Amino acid sequence: MSEFVSLLSQHSWLFIALVAVVSLLIGSFLNVLVYRLPKMMEREWQQEYQAYFQADAVVSATDSGKAAGAANKVNASALGTPERFNLAVPRSACPKCHTPIAARDNIPVLSWLLLKGRCRHCKAPISSRYPAVEALTAVMSGLVAWQYGFGTLALVLIFVTWGLIALSFIDIDTMLLPDSLTLPLLWLALVFSLTDSALVNPGQAIIGAAAGYLTLWLVYWGFKLLTGKEGMGYGDFKLLAIFGALLGWQQLPLIILLSSLVGAVIGASMLAIQGRDKATPIPFGPYIAAAGFIALLWGEQLTNAYLSYLGA
Ligand SMILES: [Zn+2]
Repeated sequence: MSEFVSLLSQHSWLFIALVAVVSLLIGSFLNVLVYRLPKMMEREWQQEYQAYFQADAVVSATDSGKAAGAANKVNASALGTPERFNLAVPRSACPKCHTPIAARDNIPVLSWLLLKGRCRHCKAPISSRYPAVEALTAVMSGLVAWQYGFGTLALVLIFVTWGLIALSFIDIDTMLLPDSLTLPLLWLALVFSLTDSALVNPGQAIIGAAAGYLTLWLVYWGFKLLTGKEGMGYGDFKLLAIFGALLGWQQLPLIILLSSLVGAVIGASMLAIQGRDKATPIPFGPYIAAAGFIALLWGEQLTNAYLSYLGA
C-alpha cells in the first residue's frame, strides 16, 4: 500500500490516469444521481404533503364527523405504498423498452460509442449527455490531479468537483441545487480547513463561507426589493459559500465576475436564438460552479495577472 502511494506521488501521470479512469466510473454514477435525486426529492415532498394534510383531516374529523372522515380514507388509499426508488433501486433500464441495462452495456463512454448511442434491444436513441457527463467528469478531475499532484488536497478537490458536476446538471434540469449536496460539501470544506493540507486556515474558511453566502444574499434581496423579481435562489448562495470556504474570500470577486461574464454571454445568445418572449429563466448554479472551478485551478495566476496588468 505504501509502495503504491509513493509510486503515485513520484509519477504524476500515473496519478492523473488513475483519477481519470475512476472519475469515468463516478461520472456514470453522477448520471444516475442527476436523474434520480430530484425525483426522490419530489416523492418525499409528495409524501410530506399528504402526511400533513392527512393529519389535518384527522383533527377535523373529530370536529365535524363523517365528511372529514371520508376524505381521510380517500387520502389514505391514494397514498398507498410507493414503490422503492432510490439511487440503487430499481436498476438502470432503457427509458423506452424498460430492458435493464447489462453490465457490458454500462461501460462509461465506450458502451455508448459501440452501440452508436442506441439501446441494444429496441434501438431507441440514448442521450449523448450520458457519455458527455462521464467524459467531463474524467477531464475535470484529471485537471485537478494535474494541477495539485497526489495528496489529500487533490483528493478533496476532486470530490468537490464531482459534487459540482452533479449540482450543475441538476440545476440545469430542475432549477434546484439540493441541500443534500451543497451542505455536506460546505461542511467538508470548513472541516478540511482544520488540516495542514487545506489552501486556507479555519479563520479564512469561515470568513470565506460567510462572505460567499452573504454577498449573493445581499444581491438577491437588493434585486428583489428594487424589481420585485427573484434573480437566483438560496442554493446559489450555498454554492458560492463552498468556494469561499475552500479558497478564501479573496477569490470570491473573481468567481462572481467570471460567472456574471459567462452568464451574460450565454444569456444574450439564448435571447438571440430563442427570442425575447421565449427566453426561459436560466439557472445560475452552473455558472458559479464553472467560475469557481476555474478559480480553483488557476485563481491565483488569474488574480496576479490582473494585478500586474493594473500595475500594482
Ligand atoms: Zn430499449
